[in-house]
Amino acid sequence: MKIKNFINGSFEDPMSKDWLDNFNPAYGTVYAQTPNSSKGDIDLAVKAAEKAFMSWSQTSFEKRSRILIKISELLEFHLDKFAEAESKDNGKPLRLAKAIDIPRAASNFRFFGNAITQFSSESHESVGAMAMNYTLRQPIGIVGCISPWNLPLYLFTWKIAPALAAGNCVIAKPSEITPITAYLLGDICNEAGLPKGVLNIVHGLGATTGKAIVEHPKIKAISFTGGTNTGTEIAKTAAPLFKKLSLELGGKNPNIIFDDCDYEKMLETTVRSSFANQGQICLCGSRIFVEATIYERFKTDFIEKVKQLKIGHPSQESTDVGAIVSKGHLTKILNYIDIAKTEGEILVGGNQVIIPSFKNGYYLEPTVIEVDSNDCTINQEEIFGPVVTLMPFETEEDVLKMANDSNYGLSATLWTNNLSRTMRLSNQLEAGIVWVNTWMLRDLRTPFGGMKASGVGREGGLESLRFFTKTKNVCIKY
Ligand code: NAD
Repeated sequence: MKIKNFINGSFEDPMSKDWLDNFNPAYGTVYAQTPNSSKGDIDLAVKAAEKAFMSWSQTSFEKRSRILIKISELLEFHLDKFAEAESKDNGKPLRLAKAIDIPRAASNFRFFGNAITQFSSESHESVGAMAMNYTLRQPIGIVGCISPWNLPLYLFTWKIAPALAAGNCVIAKPSEITPITAYLLGDICNEAGLPKGVLNIVHGLGATTGKAIVEHPKIKAISFTGGTNTGTEIAKTAAPLFKKLSLELGGKNPNIIFDDCDYEKMLETTVRSSFANQGQICLCGSRIFVEATIYERFKTDFIEKVKQLKIGHPSQESTDVGAIVSKGHLTKILNYIDIAKTEGEILVGGNQVIIPSFKNGYYLEPTVIEVDSNDCTINQEEIFGPVVTLMPFETEEDVLKMANDSNYGLSATLWTNNLSRTMRLSNQLEAGIVWVNTWMLRDLRTPFGGMKASGVGREGGLESLRFFTKTKNVCIKY
């Protein structure tokens, strides 16, 4: 199977005729070829976007909204096809792709299709100066959206939908590791009546295609989700070109558990927040801090639950933990597990799993490591796999210090029924998102993004629409 670029409403081979192998991680075998698009392909996409911009930016909110909602409906109609494709490409349980990934991609289009009809600007009367100000929020023009492999269509559409809703034309690149659902999206956009050239989807490596997008002088804003090192590279390139940047980067999120929490709910959610999607969600709580008074109880119960998780082929209904996304990523996680052996004690897991019927697949046991310090490598570096650490704490001050002692600041989860403590810690935790007595509950209107090395800027709701528009104030003297 050959994946193609979607440029000007048509499916195209890359100009370079350079192709990459695309793997099915459940089997460890190649099942498709992906274009490795060059600067020439990006030029073509930009030309198409330039041609489409004037008309799209002048299309009424109602019409844009109707098209985006139609895309959402078509994604829902083709839920099974998209979920199967996502699971095959990424290794995630099909059950998860059906319940989360594809429905959320559809919600992204529906949400921003609706949100744009409510988007308004401000006016300020300068009383005493006999002047009136009004603020315009105009589409930027051509914008670049670059996304990672962990929630492929979910994160791809999280960027594309608001960019289109705001009236921009888009050059979008999914991860070269999981290109398939982005490829399938092209047909849906045509069927929904999105004018050609408004959305262009190009495939390829970060170092070639991604770089060409970031460097292109006509692409005026970049919304990027991915690793912190890549974010640094993109910022270095984009800053001297004065591009607007939104960077959603890595995390090393604390999960803080006090003894007054609702224990059963916390336990069940902590298994999910540790291992959902094989732990490959930027919001997973990978550093678990437990109040000393319930530490031993938690440790026993948590290990028991983790042992019950079923590792298996992503398409099997009973599978809790599917395949790791790629061989390279599996090797990276195994290297961290080796480091963990010198820094702490592996309480459960730690091994690659060979499943006889698909013995070349990339399977790994969910792994729990006990550590006695937050300073160790495995508590400081992002592993981004089914690996969590456990550590007891004595006081609120101690745990706050450890939670914040990280280069990252994406999310934090807090388990307690003490209201004052909730307020104190929520105020002081250095994280863009704090969940109290829940995890991954997302309201798309809320701001989303990280502090410190976890990113710059916020997306979600009006924040996304503001990012994808340029602001102009008009002051009229009367
Ligand atoms: P990555 O940084 O390797 O790649 C992300 C995307 O950037 C891919 O499409 C890749 O091709 C592209 N890219 C790579 N180098 C580039 C360059 N020089 N210029 C332009 N584009 C380039 O990340 P990944 O391995 O795909 O994803 C995992 C990372 O993403 C983890 O660190 C995870 O925490 C992070 N993540 C963050 C969030 C968030 O919302 N903060 C969400 C999901 C994942």
